[in-house]
Amino acid sequence: MAPIPELAPELAPEPVPDSLAACRRLDRDDPLSTLTGRFRLPTGIVYLDGNSLGPLPRASEAAVRRATAGEWGRSLVRGWNDEDWIGLPTRTAARIAPLIGAEAEEVACADSVSVNLFKLAAGALALKPDRKVLLAAERDFPTDGYMLQGLSRLRPDIRIRIVPHHEIAGALSNDVALLVLSHADYRTGALADLSGLSRQAAEAGVLTLWDLSHTAGLAPIGLAAAGADMAVGCGYKYLNGGPGAPAFAFLARRHHEAFANPLSGWMGHERPFDFAPGYAPAAGAARLMAGTPPILSLTALHAALEVFEGLQPAALLARSRTLSDLFLARAAPALEAHGFTCVSPARREARGGHLSFAHPQAYPVVQALIAAGVIGDFRAPDLMRLGFSPLFLRRADVWAAADRFAQVMETGAWRDPAFAEKQRVT
Ligand SMILES: *Cc1c(COP(=O)(O)O)cnc(C)c1O
Repeated sequence: MAPIPELAPELAPEPVPDSLAACRRLDRDDPLSTLTGRFRLPTGIVYLDGNSLGPLPRASEAAVRRATAGEWGRSLVRGWNDEDWIGLPTRTAARIAPLIGAEAEEVACADSVSVNLFKLAAGALALKPDRKVLLAAERDFPTDGYMLQGLSRLRPDIRIRIVPHHEIAGALSNDVALLVLSHADYRTGALADLSGLSRQAAEAGVLTLWDLSHTAGLAPIGLAAAGADMAVGCGYKYLNGGPGAPAFAFLARRHHEAFANPLSGWMGHERPFDFAPGYAPAAGAARLMAGTPPILSLTALHAALEVFEGLQPAALLARSRTLSDLFLARAAPALEAHGFTCVSPARREARGGHLSFAHPQAYPVVQALIAAGVIGDFRAPDLMRLGFSPLFLRRADVWAAADRFAQVMETGAWRDPAFAEKQRVT
């Protein structure tokens, strides 16, 4: 087996337990198992979709209650000062920074991943005026491509070049201004070589913009150490910030002076309450903000990030892989008997936090699994995607999920026509 550079020796793979009792024993002795209690999870449900929407942290529930009745209800507009709502984006960004290997001043918390990606990509083009190509990988998360397409319509001089993932390194030519790439593939969970590609891009004079949506809060990320230039990521997946939580954006310190946010709104101004007619950017990544921050959503995200204090991202990734290994081992007979193909990397070192299995009936199977209390999701055209968030799932949960999956397949429960009806959100 290849060495695991990002893992300390004590985080080497754990032998897969062979019984539910063994799972429970290991859970009991695992200090990370106590984190489950920090979340409000419905009883009887095994939640394998924390990679899509993290569950509700108890701290967020309490913080939102305080922020509504206690702050908004009582302080009214005075809350901006009295409750430091105005400082909440900065305080939230400061909690995200250590999870991605950045300094607080290099991170902003605002808007969605899509909007942040647009701001950074447009600003990157201005930093590289002699280069006219945006490079991205085939089959990457669609919104990233959609935003680049929108940007290229505003900049007809720009071309988008899409290549297969394994050809990215070879495509870093001297006409490329920016490489936009996901750290983990949203379909397969495969991890990209963030540090290697960032280094190769830098050598080729290409800026890098990483989409960390499927790794922030799951895996060790060293943006500064890798020499990455920019990044975006999601607040509602492994960071558990709640539905539609604000996203984050990273801008390396060396670009702070020169970088211009094309969406130059007042909240990215150095002194918004001067109400001056001319725009002057705030210092650091705070210039990436545009409009008024969503305080209730930020409150939930800020409180959700408490859970990461004192945790090592490498330990989280190791735990997630322990859980996905367990699922693979326990569900193997049913997966094989019923024609599922694992499209996630076979090597655990190449894997992020989820596993995906191709199957022609993946949609009704996922619906039947949800009805049986195991929540995963379906990704078009034919994937059953199961996430193994390290914060709240225990080995015993994963064991139960594998057994319920086997039952759904063996009983043919998924054949109920009700499960074939497609809903708006999959
Ligand atoms: C979830 C996800 C997004 C979401 O983007 P929003 O604009 O915040 O909705 C973007 N990129 C990737 C890779 C994702 O997984």
